[in-house]
Amino acid sequence: MLKYFSRDLMCWYVKNKRDLPWRHTKDPYKIWISEVMLQQTTINAVIPYYKKWIKTFPTVHDLAQAPLQRVLKLWEGLGYYNRAKNLHKAALLIIKNYNGQIPKNPINVRSLPGFGPYTTGSVLSIAYNMPLTIIDANVRRLVMRLLALPGQADTKQDPIINQFLLKVLPPKGAGDFNQALMELGALVCRVKDPDCKSCPQDKYCHSHKENKQHTIPQRKSKIIKDVHAVIAIIKNNDFYYIQKRPSSGLLADLWEFPGGKIRAGESKKQALIREIKEELGIKLISARHLFDVNHFYTQFKAHLSVFDCKTGSPPKTDSTHRWVKPINFIKYPMPSGTTRIISKLIK
Ligand code: SF4
Repeated sequence: MLKYFSRDLMCWYVKNKRDLPWRHTKDPYKIWISEVMLQQTTINAVIPYYKKWIKTFPTVHDLAQAPLQRVLKLWEGLGYYNRAKNLHKAALLIIKNYNGQIPKNPINVRSLPGFGPYTTGSVLSIAYNMPLTIIDANVRRLVMRLLALPGQADTKQDPIINQFLLKVLPPKGAGDFNQALMELGALVCRVKDPDCKSCPQDKYCHSHKENKQHTIPQRKSKIIKDVHAVIAIIKNNDFYYIQKRPSSGLLADLWEFPGGKIRAGESKKQALIREIKEELGIKLISARHLFDVNHFYTQFKAHLSVFDCKTGSPPKTDSTHRWVKPINFIKYPMPSGTTRIISKLIK
């Protein structure tokens, strides 16, 4: 029954695949960059990031030689900054241990920072045509529907999905096969309205036969946490005061204005006084509300109240606390919420 699964899929892919910049190369470095970026956001959002990245760091050597701050700056807006740090760490190891070439041995690749099963499978199958399966959100949803698997689309489903993929993976051409599956999931077996009439795999699909395609996978209820915070804009003539976040944890190593979460029972003013005392060891003299910014991060929605602040004494300056002119903000990687505050301030 599954004999023609791969052939049908590939016929569809040849006619329907989108023309994407990373589909014009077999360079494992470029495929690696595109695959890591695609784990962050949509294809349309990735294209300008990918083009800029490849222009700035055309090879793994260029990436390894770049300062981390420059790498983070280029990643700014994509989120999950650890992924950018891992790209940089892995590039250094590829230069040091593998003569600048991404190794072909999956065990060696998996040992590099940031290379999980998905990234390893995609880079090795697409660049070197190695017969490895890959499971991203599109493939997981597609196969769950093909097999009419109960439950939510999470990694617990992957062993069954992988068993199925191993049955249909062609011995040659794994890279195109994997890309075709992801493309079919993205374009036809879509999250909300699967287009079964245009699907080349409808004859293999149990959900379609049982008319269950709209209920598989089971939907997750998404709870987005609200975080309320105060942000202190401290100015000295044309200079703004910014500080670097710690090197681990959320938004690590990014630069931002002082401030932080409002605690339960605190007013915004009380939170500002406490944050400035805790972070900078100085006293807040006055605070004037400027504007509010709401920003969605992957894990939460931030409600940021921005204040023009005067302090009793000047804040400290060192390698992680600086006075910066707006023209130089471009040198500092920042969370998206901070860049939105800057565009409002500059306006
Ligand atoms: S037939 Fe419908 S539900 Fe089944 S794989 Fe195709 S698009 Fe998805």
